[in-house]
Amino acid sequence: MNVSLRFDPIRLPASAQELRQEVRNFLAHQIKRGVFSSSDNIASDNEAFAHAVSQKGWIGMAWPREYGGQERSFLERYVVNEEMLIAGAPTGRYFVADRQSGPTLIRYASENIKRSILPRIIAGDASFCIGMSEPNSGSDLFAARASAKRVEGGWRLNGGKIWVSNANISDFMIGLFRTSKPTEENRRHGLTNFLVDMKLDGITTNPIRQMSGNADFCEVNFNDVFVPEDHLIGEVDGAWKQATSELAFERSGPERFLETFGALQAFIKLAQGADDLRLREGVGRLVAQLYGLRRMSVSVAGMLQDGREPVTEASIVKDMGTVWEQALPAELRRLSGLMAHEVYDVAAFRECLDYYLRIAPKLTIQGGSTEILRGIVARGLGLR
Ligand SMILES: Cc1cc2nc3c(=O)[nH]c(=O)nc-3n(C[C@H](O)[C@H](O)[C@H](O)COP(=O)(O)OP(=O)(O)OC[C@H]3O[C@@H](n4cnc5c(N)ncnc54)[C@H](O)[C@@H]3O)c2cc1C
Repeated sequence: MNVSLRFDPIRLPASAQELRQEVRNFLAHQIKRGVFSSSDNIASDNEAFAHAVSQKGWIGMAWPREYGGQERSFLERYVVNEEMLIAGAPTGRYFVADRQSGPTLIRYASENIKRSILPRIIAGDASFCIGMSEPNSGSDLFAARASAKRVEGGWRLNGGKIWVSNANISDFMIGLFRTSKPTEENRRHGLTNFLVDMKLDGITTNPIRQMSGNADFCEVNFNDVFVPEDHLIGEVDGAWKQATSELAFERSGPERFLETFGALQAFIKLAQGADDLRLREGVGRLVAQLYGLRRMSVSVAGMLQDGREPVTEASIVKDMGTVWEQALPAELRRLSGLMAHEVYDVAAFRECLDYYLRIAPKLTIQGGSTEILRGIVARGLGLR
């Protein structure tokens, strides 16, 4: 059996720790100026905030200088991202483009597209969404049916995508379309990525309301939408080759275990001074688990920085991280049940917990479900 699983014991460098303080000061200043508040939805489109982050050089900060980036390390980017999540900062306008779509364009887009779009992302003026899932192909992406047909000067798109996060506020989508049938030898053949301007004629976007009250993912329909030839991203019929390396970036960051972190912060504030061994043990256990997850996530960021593709390790971080963040609100509800309601304001805490309990179910589905991740890990370990 050929097993290759490795988490290098990487620690954040001193430069990243200095940057952390700078990010904290910046965020405190933005809150003071009223640009955002910690109760905002982190996915919301906040133009003023995106422009302020851009001014600091923190959008596309790890990208090449020739496209406007700062060539800073993934570990520095990690720290910026982590602090934004902890503060509940509204990064919706640029988060997907910074993490995923920009690096995809850098790797696979035409020079013309790179020169015109990347500076707009870096300026906080171009937001992106990812159009992969369809009503009958979520986990099994290779069953995608939305099609792109070659026409004079470009391609015509037809069909529908679903669960597309932030499609309603995005300027562009990187969408996966069928350009030919799969072959007998390779069922993953025949899919192609396109850059799609979301304002084109023939695109309709319908937000879908979730039980949390948010409506930040959407159904998107394409009706004879024309995209020019140079909006093709990568190889025709060969999108599957591009997917693997992108997934390591998508699956291993602190956003994969910090989405319900606000509940832990609120609980620690509530339980301050409580002299109950069961509470101390409970919080200690949660913090220790979080610490372990973070070490693994930083390790993957370090391996990405070294140019490796730790796909199995990234899948482990996403699986363990999302299972942990999903269970967190329920565990905090249990712990708060141990507190004297007449001494502590448990009712106010539970009100705040309600939101986290409502978003918890989605955490192990978005970005690849638990079962799919475990299949990837099993393959990486040579078990299937
Ligand atoms: C909040 C949120 C945001 C999202 N954002 C986006 C986005 O921006 N862009 C986008 O394209 N998609 C997005 N998605 C879609 C997401 O990627 C899919 O929901 C996910 O991949 C699962 O696909 P599905 O919903 O079709 O479920 P299905 O694939 O039908 O799966 C149903 C169940 O069967 C299990 N299952 C499926 N196949 C297997 C298998 N081979 N082995 C074992 N078990 C299996 C799954 O784990 C799941 O439990 C988002 C989803 C959520 C919840």
